[in-house]
Amino acid sequence: MQVERFESELWETASLLLVGEGESVAIDPGVSADEVAAIDRRAHDLGAPVTYVLVTHADWDHVCGIAPFPDAVAAAGEATAARVEIGEPGKTAARRAEEHGLSVALPPRIHRVLEVGRAHRVGPFVVETAPLVGHTPDGTAFRVRELDVLAVGDHLSSSEFPFASSTAHYRSTLAGLVELLRNDPAALVVPGHGPALTGAEALANAVADLAYLRGLHIAVASALAGSGTRADARAAGLAVPLPRPAPDDLARMHETNVESQLEELRPAD
Ligand SMILES: [Zn+2]
Repeated sequence: MQVERFESELWETASLLLVGEGESVAIDPGVSADEVAAIDRRAHDLGAPVTYVLVTHADWDHVCGIAPFPDAVAAAGEATAARVEIGEPGKTAARRAEEHGLSVALPPRIHRVLEVGRAHRVGPFVVETAPLVGHTPDGTAFRVRELDVLAVGDHLSSSEFPFASSTAHYRSTLAGLVELLRNDPAALVVPGHGPALTGAEALANAVADLAYLRGLHIAVASALAGSGTRADARAAGLAVPLPRPAPDDLARMHETNVESQLEELRPAD
């Protein structure tokens, strides 16, 4: 029984292979067809073919590894399954993969819907699930205690900062992760992008990310309470420092967070 991590050339996207007796569970296998094929080969080499694919959320870079395992059961939380069912992740994947010059296998599909917030038997493992809303409305954390591993989707990355679809949800998720990582940490914490972390490293990222979003909330709320204009609030939000250095091309994600924060406090006219 072991866990192996794979990293895509696109955005350091992380895939996990949870290897059991004679079968494996893949989490977010991806991204390109070649990269997924390498994970498939590795599982076969270990004598443990992939029988289940788990998906942390339905963003396109996390669902490209479902179709290459036609004999595996693809499983995800309710909200992720609903997004895949509507078909948006597959369509986005086709478009974005082409933009990046990648060959990907489509369409994704989900066979088994997991009730988030409880444990499920997935192949040879017991997988605990927890909601991870904030980056998207549909994230799910997967924890396997037998392997002392926790997959957290697109949260806690050391090479990114929070990309929030809802700042309120994201703060709640981080507060929950801080509590979990302080009191019941996993030895290995695997964000969807960037390096794998120890429990202590993951806690440090969670604390820093929460301080960033808390700072954003205070800056925008204070500006709205003062002059009251959206432009002032936007400027105040943009002045909040990121929790860690990030590539310049991610600057627009900071702008998106400021807009999400504005929406949380004052809906657009
Ligand atoms: Zn991602």
